Amino acid sequence: MNKSRKCPVCNSHEYEKIEKINFLLFEEHPISKGYDLVQCKLCSFMYADVKVTQIELDNYYSNISKYEDKQISTGGGYNIYDKERLAGVAIYLSNLFTDKNIKIADVGCAIGGLLEQLKNLGFENITGIDPSKSCVEITKNEKGIDCLHSSLFDLNDSFGTYDLIIISHVWEHILDLETAINSLEKILSPNGYIYIECPNAMNYKNTIHAPLQELNTEHINHFYEKGFLNFFGLRNYKCIDIGNKIVKIASGEDYDALYGVFQKSSTNLDYKIQFDNEILASLQEYINKSRIWFAKIIHIIESNLSNERNVAIYGIGQFAFKLLYEIVKKRPDLHLFLFDNNSLNVGKEISKFKINKGADLDKYLGNEKLKIIITSLIHQNSIKQNINNILTEKNITQVEIIELK
Ligand SMILES: [Zn+2]
Repeated sequence: MNKSRKCPVCNSHEYEKIEKINFLLFEEHPISKGYDLVQCKLCSFMYADVKVTQIELDNYYSNISKYEDKQISTGGGYNIYDKERLAGVAIYLSNLFTDKNIKIADVGCAIGGLLEQLKNLGFENITGIDPSKSCVEITKNEKGIDCLHSSLFDLNDSFGTYDLIIISHVWEHILDLETAINSLEKILSPNGYIYIECPNAMNYKNTIHAPLQELNTEHINHFYEKGFLNFFGLRNYKCIDIGNKIVKIASGEDYDALYGVFQKSSTNLDYKIQFDNEILASLQEYINKSRIWFAKIIHIIESNLSNERNVAIYGIGQFAFKLLYEIVKKRPDLHLFLFDNNSLNVGKEISKFKINKGADLDKYLGNEKLKIIITSLIHQNSIKQNINNILTEKNITQVEIIELK
């Protein structure tokens, strides 16, 4: 349980601690104590030394799959930017794999957004696999695409074998990549291909939408080119293609993604680990920029809350988890009113404070003076507008919004 995590790329136990990341999380969250970001001394890989088991993480994810909610999903292709991003992957794959009859599986397919795009391009033998039952139902019933219900770790030959397996925005989440790749290989054809895509840790520093956003509770592996090459090379995969691309995420912001296509070799490639001499400095630059921005935000909050006892926090996501840690540490006397629009978060508790529905904000605005912190830096202005509309409509004047951006 409290054992340090070995390097998910090369299995070495030798690492250097780089940065402690703290969160204030839901009571039942497996990473509630935060973690150290570490670097493997042997292969240079950067990862979160989380002290949990894969089973604990797995249970947590399968119980609260945010991908089930169409409005907030990022894998379903319901948002224009998602659609463009997924269509781009599908076109890339159709250029590389000209035989439309190859068998393709998208493991961690969410609600089938990428598969739908592949289907549009003429691929017929496509299957989704996802640990969430409702994602499977949506992919099958709404997209008309075969979909199997399974965790990445429970694959076996009864699922069939596939010439191309897609693992898009999955690998950064997995604690035990060794077991994960062994499981995937149970459904990979001999000499089959893997298409993989992840956030590119080498470029975190280029697009910071919120401080330390990439060092969150969900992304515990930080891949960059040599990380991919080492991971797959050590497991006898040949690199067919690798590169960086800038995609737009659901909010419309730019995001650097690393992608690669690897082919399993039936012979021993005798791969030699390549140590990357740039990734540490690159991540440290990202952390330093983030810490400076974060300190400014904490300063704004502190100077606004000097006389306050009550404060509302609007938006409970990754940035809020880090903010709450600092706020509660500095001001344990504060009474927090937490609000979020995600129905999966409503009703949960953080540090004994219950999360309420964002739309119910006015029910909590009594005669007392209250300041509201909007934690979303990307959506700050639109959320502020919504809150101001409520305040004007209800003629509430004793409320003030603290702007972090
Ligand atoms: Zn390593």
